[in-house]
Amino acid sequence: MKDYIIIGAGQAGLSISYYLTQLKKDFLIVDANDEVGKPWLKRWDSLKLFTPSEFNHLPGLEFPLKKGHYANKYEVADYLKSYVKHFNMPIEFNQKINHLEKTAEGFSIKSETKTYQAKEVIIATGPFHTPFTPLCHKKIDADIIQIHSENYKNPNQLQDGATLVVGAGDSGVQILEEISNTERTVYFSGKTNISTLPQEFLGKTLWWWFSKIGFLSFNKYSFIGKKISKGLQPVIGTDVKALFKKPNVVCVGRTLDANKTEITFEKGTKTDIKNIVWATGFKPNFDWIKGVELDDNHYPKNFRGVSNIKGLYYIGLPWLYTRGSATLGGVQKDAKYLHDYIKEHA
Ligand SMILES: Cc1cc2nc3c(=O)[nH]c(=O)nc-3n(C[C@H](O)[C@H](O)[C@H](O)COP(=O)(O)OP(=O)(O)OC[C@H]3O[C@@H](n4cnc5c(N)ncnc54)[C@H](O)[C@@H]3O)c2cc1C
Repeated sequence: MKDYIIIGAGQAGLSISYYLTQLKKDFLIVDANDEVGKPWLKRWDSLKLFTPSEFNHLPGLEFPLKKGHYANKYEVADYLKSYVKHFNMPIEFNQKINHLEKTAEGFSIKSETKTYQAKEVIIATGPFHTPFTPLCHKKIDADIIQIHSENYKNPNQLQDGATLVVGAGDSGVQILEEISNTERTVYFSGKTNISTLPQEFLGKTLWWWFSKIGFLSFNKYSFIGKKISKGLQPVIGTDVKALFKKPNVVCVGRTLDANKTEITFEKGTKTDIKNIVWATGFKPNFDWIKGVELDDNHYPKNFRGVSNIKGLYYIGLPWLYTRGSATLGGVQKDAKYLHDYIKEHA
């Protein structure tokens, strides 16, 4: 029986693990992957952070790269690995937890091969679980390559010919930009009146401005925080207007339906598409937690990570408390809050 099991060894799990060490708790981290940093390594090859180095610190060990640098995915994974090594964090890999249940003594936590027992549990399984793809993708001809952004790495995965990118978030526009550089026709499906923010402004980084005006501190229960968290998040660092003006980029509106090689959009039907990248997001999955109560966004009900099941906590959810909650540099505030809560209550 451990004091704590942390489920998930990403930045959120590692941050709370740092604080449990401070509290001298006996804990174990379990993770479905086979190494630290895997969620980053699985993302596309050219990915660069939108946060500069000075906004990427986890508690107790600074992000090692120089101020103003936008790290790539390998640099982030290396930092997470060195973090684990530095604090000698106990992790069991290849354990995907598929059942969690409160018991008389604490919690029973099960993977396919093991059962763990802990007095309390912290869930740090990340904001992104099941890739979402619109149902019409099932009606599309098998000769057309379809990839969800979760599995997109680079344009070498595509066959020759026109490519469709669906989704107007950061992932969609970054992937669109990369594929449009291969000169082929790229159809873009999604909203085009996207609000955007540049990565640098008046000689300072966007994140510097965010911290100056307190943008990262508005919590989701405040008037401004409610407005920001419920609105569409702006795309950061991609010049979307210039991208949409490129001669080989064709904006087709929302995707409506599909039939073999015919794909229908708000602005008509296309029959020459050979590849599709679905940057259409993810759905959260907490079904494996017995008794979990979900909010309107399908995330577990909680206040600043403290759930309504005694002894069960969350960290790393989008807008757990602020915009920063699901970022490298922001998660430590939530981890510190849980540290203080646990110190007082456990
Ligand atoms: C494309 C992209 C770019 C981003 N860029 C930035 C950026 O520039 N700056 C920034 O600060 N943030 C950025 N983020 C946001 C955020 O920092 C990352 O999403 C980060 O990976 C979230 O960390 P996490 O620890 O909460 O979750 P994850 O990194 O997803 O880690 C969760 C861990 O939980 C494990 N897990 C999940 N389910 C189970 C289970 N049932 N049992 C056992 N283990 C499980 C997984 O294997 C994984 O290792 C970006 C996100 C994306 C998608």
